[in-house]
Amino acid sequence: MASHNHLHMVFVPLMAHGHMIPLFDIARLFAARGVKATLVTTPANAAAFPKPDAVEIVILRFPSAEVGIPEGVENITQLTEIDHTDKFVEALKLIAEGPLAELLEERRPSCLVSDMFLPWSADVAARVDIPWVAFHGGGYYAQAVSEVVRRDRPQWGVESEDDEFDVPGLPGGVRFTRRKLPSAWTEKEGEKSAHTRMVEAAFETAAERSFGVMMNSFYELESDYADHYPKFIRGRCWSLGPASLCFRNMEDKANRGKQANIDVHECLNWLDSKPPNSVIYVCFGSITHVSSAQLIEIATALEASNQHFIWVVRRPNHDDEEWLPSGFEARNKGKGLIIRGWAPQVMILDHVATGGFVTHCGWNSTLEGVSAGVPMVTWPMFAEQFLNEKLATEVLRVGVSVGADQNCDWLVEEARVRRAEIEAAVRRVMVGEEAEEMRRRAAALKELAWKAVQEGGSSYNGLTQMLDALTSIKC
Ligand code: UDP
Repeated sequence: MASHNHLHMVFVPLMAHGHMIPLFDIARLFAARGVKATLVTTPANAAAFPKPDAVEIVILRFPSAEVGIPEGVENITQLTEIDHTDKFVEALKLIAEGPLAELLEERRPSCLVSDMFLPWSADVAARVDIPWVAFHGGGYYAQAVSEVVRRDRPQWGVESEDDEFDVPGLPGGVRFTRRKLPSAWTEKEGEKSAHTRMVEAAFETAAERSFGVMMNSFYELESDYADHYPKFIRGRCWSLGPASLCFRNMEDKANRGKQANIDVHECLNWLDSKPPNSVIYVCFGSITHVSSAQLIEIATALEASNQHFIWVVRRPNHDDEEWLPSGFEARNKGKGLIIRGWAPQVMILDHVATGGFVTHCGWNSTLEGVSAGVPMVTWPMFAEQFLNEKLATEVLRVGVSVGADQNCDWLVEEARVRRAEIEAAVRRVMVGEEAEEMRRRAAALKELAWKAVQEGGSSYNGLTQMLDALTSIKC
């Protein structure tokens, strides 16, 4: 096998947990193949995330004052006002064009790998004359649908938000509504926000100007769309996922992402005390805001469903009385565990006691649910999450929808789904024949996911092919 240890890759994630975590994992994967891997981050993010093994970290200053963002706010999950998003994006551009460009000039790596939502990377890499690989934080299905609606605009061929339209040309006949599409694809010409223009530029630049696109997915999961998607881009395309499977032991899984707000041994002991497939895990990722009214609906539904549960509630600044029915924890002692803040998600999903996952369908969570062989209650909220829901429920058939029907931005806080719907969906994935069928399909996908990342598997080979392609340009 060809050695690739002459290669040096520089990785630049978008500073949001759902984009940083998989790219940190991927940098580890490259380092494990003997490549020199350098990861670029900022002071607050470096302090919050554990350093991946064998990966060099370079810390660049975050230009808070220049763009008018409070000092220490260096991650999208910390933003509390939608207006700050544009300033945040401006800060990322300043980093790329200033200190990142200088770093690349000085180090002359073989390749820059950065998030597709950092489209100015194309210019920075071109200046230093190195290839740029765009990292897509989503799956093939969502990416393919997004490319069709961006280019052909079938969403404007129907009258109302709720009329279904065909997404032409895709395998399997995909139908969708405007109400569920990411907002970037539902703003009319002339009324587009700065954010929408940035998203459009990101898709266009990744498709037209990258040396290739790197996906955190695996071929066997969405093979029809993995075959179709490369038609939309000029460069090449490599599947390297699921990235989370680079963690093989409990300790690594427990420390992935951020320091958990629960003692991991306590969490494991709690799970060990429960029968297989008896716990439903509820978590909406790193960024979604969930209102107190909605949390009360969830609490009531979990209690009524009569299942064991682990429920992650990200409400650092709110009193429990605002969102927790009185006496809830005492009544559910032993039955349920609430984690306030950050949970060791991969560790929990991989535990044999975990039998279901209520998820907002962020791509990482969806893939982690699949990789753990766990059926899902799908509850999408924003961005491309409704597309991931469709993949999970209609294509893979490992999930049931809770019935959310409106794509909105992540800071919108309303109660959208009622307790009865939540309870019914939880029961459907946990008990009965339908649950067993989904569990069987999910277990088969889990096996395929593990095979994909083993030596000789499709994602293992995808990484080799990417290294070979970079070696051939270097030669
Ligand atoms: N995550 C975690 N613990 C938490 C919340 C999230 O480990 O309490 C991880 C999760 O495993 C996933 C990532 O954070 O890898 C969230 O990414 P995703 O794409 O699912 O959603 P986002 O946060 O981007 O909306």
